[in-house]
Amino acid sequence: MNLPIYLDFQATTPVDQRVLDAMLPYFSATFGNAASRSHSFGWAAEEAVGRARKQIADLIGASPKEIVFTSGSTEGINLALKGAAEMYAAKGKHIITTQVEHKAVLDTCKRLEQEGYEVTYLKPDKTGRVSAEVVEEALRDDTILVALLWASNEIGTINPVREIGKLCHERGVLLFTDATQAVGKLPVDVESDNIDLLCLSAHKIYGPKGVGALFVRRRNPRVRLVAQMDGGGHERGMRSGTLNVPGIVGLGAACNICQEDFQKDLDHGRGLRDRFEKQIFEALDHVYINGDPENRLPQASNISFAYVEGESLIMGFADIAVSSGSACTSASLEPSHVLRACDVGDELAHSSIRFSFGRLTSAEEVDHAAAQVIEAVKRLRELSPLYEMVQEGIDLSTINWSGH
Ligand SMILES: *Cc1c(COP(=O)(O)O)cnc(C)c1O
Repeated sequence: MNLPIYLDFQATTPVDQRVLDAMLPYFSATFGNAASRSHSFGWAAEEAVGRARKQIADLIGASPKEIVFTSGSTEGINLALKGAAEMYAAKGKHIITTQVEHKAVLDTCKRLEQEGYEVTYLKPDKTGRVSAEVVEEALRDDTILVALLWASNEIGTINPVREIGKLCHERGVLLFTDATQAVGKLPVDVESDNIDLLCLSAHKIYGPKGVGALFVRRRNPRVRLVAQMDGGGHERGMRSGTLNVPGIVGLGAACNICQEDFQKDLDHGRGLRDRFEKQIFEALDHVYINGDPENRLPQASNISFAYVEGESLIMGFADIAVSSGSACTSASLEPSHVLRACDVGDELAHSSIRFSFGRLTSAEEVDHAAAQVIEAVKRLRELSPLYEMVQEGIDLSTINWSGH
């Protein structure tokens, strides 16, 4: 067993060896520019890009012509939201999103607000889920776009995308979904799921960092975007810039493996997650799962350990790599905006840790990690006067802390 043990697969994943093998020839042996039409170097690169385009499209039920390559989901989100907002501004300037989105969506929406758009941020239920009814109530005549997280990178909760997509289509509103955590882990089909725009990122599915794709629907309806990058008019004018051929080949290979190993990966991740949670819940009291215990990503586990501070807990186990709160907010002391939106109190939000289990995680690693977590929580609770009071049967909510 190699230490430390990596259990932060929602932050990023290692490149799968099979993906790396597929990429390597495209760094120097086959190095052409996919936009070079006049020689075989360019054709070879273009052919590889075409193959990858099909592999990505196949995984999500799209056609290859609907795939636009990007540098990752952050760029895909910016292109989809800003590109659609600008294109359809004459139709309306109202956008609907949710409070549980990734910062890339929230910050892009803030920017659009500064530019005169109006954004509604829907509150989820306590499990982090946003229902179709809540979206329906927020729809207006001037709504042009709904931006909805498919599966949460923090708590794993899965939103009812298909139902919300159906509603959007009935009302002539576009649906963008941030499917960065859903693709490869859940069945995704842009047709039956009624999606107009979808972003995905290679490094969350065992591909390389810095490459991703945006699905842009071509029919029923044909979605148009205002380009956010000016240049040579690559990607049908939607995203200029010389294509990252090795990265794109890696993304294609990663998608292909996700499709072929779908059930195997799912069973493996869920098996390890359940194995981990079982040990934690048997050994510790006052622990809570954040998110929807049923309807969540199979390999994800976000747990609050009451009376223990998340950051201290992470310091308490030296050889497990995990995140407290969101990876993006863990540099600050603010509790996660997602847990806050779910009405998890600040105390429990600060005691939360996100674990996730990957393709190469072993049962042995899971057992070692669970033992370390249990040991650290027990040790820290021994130092906690609050936990001691609770053990003595004192109801903390009845205490007058001010002493008056
Ligand atoms: C990682 C992630 C992003 C950002 O993707 P990058 O490719 O790293 O820019 C956006 N949304 C979700 C849900 C993510 O998990």
